[in-house]
Amino acid sequence: MGLLLPVQRHVAAGGSRQCTVPPVDRVCENCAGEDDELVLVRRLYVVPESWDTPGSVTRVEEPELWCFSCRSLYPHEVAD
Ligand SMILES: [Zn+2]
Repeated sequence: MGLLLPVQRHVAAGGSRQCTVPPVDRVCENCAGEDDELVLVRRLYVVPESWDTPGSVTRVEEPELWCFSCRSLYPHEVAD
């Protein structure tokens, strides 16, 4: 009866996984997408006019950093 010794496999050292991704602090505050050209804007809530209510625009006083696509999609005004 031969003893089957388990083959000793050398467990390859996985190597230290280095996180090379720099911390991203430039993200759009509206869609959380990364963008290099974030602009500080104030969101505008536009209520279209309807049969019983006049249209109105509400401006959010707290400015947010928005990316290009959000600025092209949603009403806003540029804060300074
Ligand atoms: Zn965005």
